[in-house]
Amino acid sequence: MSKLTQNYEQLAMALGFRFDAGRKIICGKREDYGIILFAEKSGYPYEMTACVSAHSPMGTLERDEIKQFVRDNKAARAINYDKNQVKLYFKNNKNQDKLREGVNSALTNLIQLLKRKGYAPCCQFCGQKQIETSAFDVSGEYMELCPDCAGKLRQDMTMATKQKQNKSENLIGGIVGALLGSVIGAVCIIFFSQLGRIAVISGFVMAICTLKGYELLGGKLTRKGFVIGSILMVAMTYVGDRLDWAIMVMREFETDLFTAYQSIPALIEADIIEIGNYGYNLAMLYLFTIAGAVSVIYSFVKDRKKEGKFGQIGSSESF
Ligand SMILES: [Zn+2]
Repeated sequence: MSKLTQNYEQLAMALGFRFDAGRKIICGKREDYGIILFAEKSGYPYEMTACVSAHSPMGTLERDEIKQFVRDNKAARAINYDKNQVKLYFKNNKNQDKLREGVNSALTNLIQLLKRKGYAPCCQFCGQKQIETSAFDVSGEYMELCPDCAGKLRQDMTMATKQKQNKSENLIGGIVGALLGSVIGAVCIIFFSQLGRIAVISGFVMAICTLKGYELLGGKLTRKGFVIGSILMVAMTYVGDRLDWAIMVMREFETDLFTAYQSIPALIEADIIEIGNYGYNLAMLYLFTIAGAVSVIYSFVKDRKKEGKFGQIGSSESF
């Protein structure tokens, strides 16, 4: 068992909550209020956030009340709320004793505050009050749901997943989408370069727009889409960079863009454009595009893993 799992387990125990080791989430009830506790950023496993499902017909927490709460509770960092949920953000604390104590007392105080303000426990989805709820993982979002909502969401998601699986891939649409996306990427390269810099952001724009373009017009992003998208990214990065040089040549030699574009190899040959300069520029652009593509593909895969997942937190049931 890892140290982190052990620490979370002890934190759950101190709160009287349950710990879902697979999802690394702690959940439980405090005076009937459903609470889900987890670290939002994986790099900061001890910076916890508590989501309390509660609704107040009397209105919401005042800014001053929140300020006072954060002042009174050393472990708390901020409070945020929307319709059926109050979120309490804790400060990062690696000292486990202090973390347990801080989270415990701040939660107790928060519940007192919520009760004073007329907040009642509720289902986070339909807002129904005084109803039995449980914590669920809905595509990576954690929610307190009543049995009706849980059943409905589960059904909706099964259907959505099936529909997605049945959706066929439109190859031509995908290629057109990717092409349009990569053109946006190339424009971005030229735009930033004309401002005098090679920007990391153009690599990301190139990758995101190309792959998203494929998905948007192709129906779904498959392995084929990644391959086609990658080829287009490589090609359009080259074209974008060469066009960028051509714009410079066009200005310098007062010629048209087409002639300028075509004359680039000759200008490199004649050492008017330094090959080192040209190569360096292009290499940097490729580096940024690769970085962009890797991060986009990584987030795609991560999202897809979460997508369509529905399960009760604290139980092994999931599909
Ligand atoms: Zn509900």
